[in-house]
Amino acid sequence: MFGLSKIFSGKSTEKAPMLEALAAYRSSAFAIGIEQSWVKDIQQTDGKSWHVKLVLPFAGLGEIHDIEAFINQKLACKVTIEAQVKLSEASKFKQIKHIILVASGKGGVGKSTTAVNLAAALQQEGAKVGILDADIYGPSIPQLLGLQGAEPKTADNKHLLPFEAHNLKAQSIGFLVPSDDATVWRGPMASGALNQLLNETDWGELDYLIVDMPPGTGDIQLTMSQKVPASGTVIITTPQDLALADAQKGIAMFNKVNVPVLGLIENMSYFLCGHCGEPNHVFGKDGAVTLAHRHGVPVLATIPLATEIRESSEQGHLIAQNNAESISETYKTAARVLASSLYYQQAQSAVEIVITDD
Ligand code: ADP
Repeated sequence: MFGLSKIFSGKSTEKAPMLEALAAYRSSAFAIGIEQSWVKDIQQTDGKSWHVKLVLPFAGLGEIHDIEAFINQKLACKVTIEAQVKLSEASKFKQIKHIILVASGKGGVGKSTTAVNLAAALQQEGAKVGILDADIYGPSIPQLLGLQGAEPKTADNKHLLPFEAHNLKAQSIGFLVPSDDATVWRGPMASGALNQLLNETDWGELDYLIVDMPPGTGDIQLTMSQKVPASGTVIITTPQDLALADAQKGIAMFNKVNVPVLGLIENMSYFLCGHCGEPNHVFGKDGAVTLAHRHGVPVLATIPLATEIRESSEQGHLIAQNNAESISETYKTAARVLASSLYYQQAQSAVEIVITDD
């Protein structure tokens, strides 16, 4: 692979239009285009054909075809892009780059379903991903991954080995403690169990660890979110007024403990009519958008109420990894926007540090 200097050496003037075209690409995930430092090689293979090597600093491989199409059209050429994902930031916890909490103000809004599919979508976008089920009230991740009945294992009697399913590493609080008496849990006990799972699981290198939090905004959730070195949180809601009111409480809670709210996901947003194909907003419309605007956070996705989602979950399949299902693209787009917002967040704080030092 060529270094950056090679890109600009030799026939660099011929490569400049390619770099400019890459920089001009825009989408909700690639908000400021492809930066020059991500471009590792540009080769002209013949008159109108190019080969470009990219290293993306966030999970975003699913957009490479769109980028190719954009360049082909802009430069009237045929470009093939070879890309890999390599996060540039330092690990925030052990060898984990980012811990992302998935939370909801109330139960039953599809938090676990969305958490596991977001994890799957990030994996599809080229990242190394784990999922930690911290929902003490009803740990459902093992079932969603088809791991019912699995027993935790250890290689050295000190660390737990994570489960591996669907190219994800997974661990669940349900393996540590029985869920049937969650009423006895208190904040310190729940956050202690979460920390134990974080610390004592041999996660290895991960780009993103998704934590499926218990629903609600009480003492337990507050203590848990305070104790985890999270990069941010994603709040799942449905369009109903009550769910939105609880999601608002969730935003307030995370603001209080200084965990950035990276975005909202509106689940069961609409139902596609089997006859006319029109979206039917069964539970109300635009509630999450209004809430998001009020708090200056993005809506990462609006996910329909879809039989396929429930059925896949029941069978231990991850619909986000099934390209035959159009809904997989919705999860993947949300994953890219989430991953890029984490990248821009840390890139911005790096710039702020430089300014302060000056
Ligand atoms: P929570 O974690 O918020 O309690 P779950 O993820 O366990 O919610 O989902 C509750 C139920 O709703 C499950 O049966 C799940 O399959 C179903 N479900 C979740 N999201 C959707 C969706 N978008 N469309 C259809 N069913 C869904």
